[in-house]
This record gives sequence, structure tokens and C-alpha cells, in this order.
Amino acid sequence: MKLSRMGAVVSAAVLATSLAACGSSEKTVDKKAGAGDSAGALIGVTMPTRSSERWISDGDNLKKQLEALGYQVDLQYAEDKIPTQTQQLDNQITKGAKLLIIASIDGTTLTSQLENAKANKIPVIAYDRLIRKSPNVDFYATFDNFKVGVQQATSLLTGLKVLKADGSAGDAKGPFNIELFAGSPDDNNATFFFNGAMSVLKPKIDDGTLVVKSKQTDFKTVAILRWKAQVAQDRMENLLTSTYRSGAKVDGVLSPYDGLSIGILSALKSNGYGTSAKPYPIVTGQDAEQASVKSILLDEQYSTIYKDTRELAKTTVEMADAVLKGQTPKTNNTTDYDNGVKVVPSMLLDSVIVDKSNYKKELVDSGYYTEAQLK
Ligand code: BGC
Repeated sequence: MKLSRMGAVVSAAVLATSLAACGSSEKTVDKKAGAGDSAGALIGVTMPTRSSERWISDGDNLKKQLEALGYQVDLQYAEDKIPTQTQQLDNQITKGAKLLIIASIDGTTLTSQLENAKANKIPVIAYDRLIRKSPNVDFYATFDNFKVGVQQATSLLTGLKVLKADGSAGDAKGPFNIELFAGSPDDNNATFFFNGAMSVLKPKIDDGTLVVKSKQTDFKTVAILRWKAQVAQDRMENLLTSTYRSGAKVDGVLSPYDGLSIGILSALKSNGYGTSAKPYPIVTGQDAEQASVKSILLDEQYSTIYKDTRELAKTTVEMADAVLKGQTPKTNNTTDYDNGVKVVPSMLLDSVIVDKSNYKKELVDSGYYTEAQLK
């Protein structure tokens, strides 16, 4: 590995010298560096899992949009298994991929694949989730993940009527019992979501409006490895049978992802929630997955965060196309996403809080779903 990396450095240096000597144009530099000649190039796309609807849409949208530009696409899913994902990347490099788009499972486990990509001059775009602890990540396309967390917490407060829809103080003063859940600790996004949410919730916990009755407030304790619904369901069951055994009611649950919300709601249901005497607490979510939007319409889940995967794919495809043509892609954040080795230039998109009051405008009128899909 080391030798081939050195080889790459040496040949780049030789190339630079010879190009300088013949006063070559920029176009020639691109070509010789492998950045031109990109027409019809193979692009490797790796997604974490098919178990969540959003990643299926992400993969489909990327493939469709890249193929429309004439690229070939190798799209792979790893069903949340790290060795499967690393093997898929090895295969894509062997097959001659000219660029990799990666939504990682564990953002710290791809170092050797990325070294190999670097040695082969294959640029890497981190998709939605930051790849950590490697210098060999060129760009990052995602949503504003801290803001997603702020939105989740804001909708929790709106649902509890501590805030009004316009963000001003609501009539409810609490105290409200809430419980907190966070995403997978190996997914860099999970910390951003949690920190964003806590930036809103902590002051309300400190002033007594909100009470985390279990006292479980630190990220490590509330994080759910690999975003597994069953693990969230089990944790909610445990909370209900321990902390809430004496009859206290849960008023709100911060859930960072629709899949977890489904598990949490099902634990609540089997403990007597979901009746007019004991309604469900305010439960948040993320991704606007079909099952959860339906649940919102049935007054079970309260809200979700809509992240338009069509737009994320579009941004990423524009990035990939620019990189392959030797251009510098557009980014809008060069400060926040430090992967432990470098700050990765990022393009952050906006997300939207969706609840029963605006699902039609945001999800149906925008063409994300048809009304029939939500019945
Ligand atoms: C994504 C979320 C998603 C979660 C679970 C995160 O990295 O940003 O949109 O809910 O993974 O799949």
C-alpha cells in the first residue's frame, strides 16, 4: 500500500514537472491526471442497507441521475454489515471505478479501502454520513445535521405546546416527562442530531419544563447501535417497566429516526398507550418514511423531518460530475465537518419539520409521495 502511494506521489511529481516544461494547458493537466476522459466512466455507489426506505430512494435516485449523464453505476447495499461494505468497495476499485460515492455504515472502518482508492486516483464523496479518520475523503454531501436535531427538538416542544408553531412561547408550562433516544454511535450524524436537539432541550430541562425521568441523558446511554428499531423498542419497554412503573406518564420522546419511532410506539402501545384516556406521547422522527407519515396521519407519531433524497442525490451527482471533469464542485461549508484528520468540504442541504398540518404541502404537493401512497 505504502509503496503504491509513494509511486503515485512520484509519478504525479514527474508529470507536473514535464507538464510545466512543455507549458501544457489546464485541459491537458486534467487529462493526464485522470480527471478528463470521464465520459461513460464507472461510478461505485455503496449504501448501508435496504432495511430503511430512505436508502433505497437514495440509491435509486443516484443511479438514475448518474445514468442520465451517461455514467455507468455499480450500486451496492451492505445490509448494515461492515465487512460486506468494505468488500463491495474493494470490488468497485478492482472493476475500475473512477469515483466512489459512499454512505458508510461505520464511518471509521474504511481507511484501507480509501488508501487504495487514493493510490488509484479515485476521488471519494461521502454521502449523507461523514467518513471519519481518513485523509482520503474529497467531498461530503449531506443535510445540515445539527439543524435536523434542532428541528426534532423544536417539534417535540411544539407538540407539547411549550412552543407555538411560530416559535414563540406556548401556553403549556410543564413539567413534562420526556425520554431521549439517539442514533447509532458509529454514525457521525447521530452526534450532530443529538447535539442539535440538546441545544434546544437542555435549557428546558434545566428550568424544569422538561424532566427526563429516567435521568438517562448522555449520548452513549441513549444511543441505539445501527439504528435498530428492535433495540429502541426494548429500551422503551425497559424504561416503561422501570421508571414509569408507578403510573407516571411519558409525555414526549425524542426519537431521531422514523424506524426507531415505530419501535418506540409499539412499546408504548403494549404498555397501554394509544387510547383516549392515555394518548401516545409526542414522538418525533426523521426521514418522512411512508409508514411513519401514515402513523402521523393516524395521530400516533407526531412529526418527522423531511429530507428530500432527490435533492441530495442531485447535489451529489453534480459534485461527482464536476470532480470527474476536473472542476471544483460547489460546497457551502468548509468548517463544520472535521473527520478527525481533515475538514471535509461539504454541501449542506435544508430539511423541513413535517407533521399533520403540513404533510400535504411538503410531501404530496412536492411529488415526494402520492396521496394514495399515504393511505
Ligand atoms: C441519516 C438519517 C437516517 C439514519 C438511519 C443517518 O445517517 O442521516 O437520515 O435516519 O441514518 O438510517
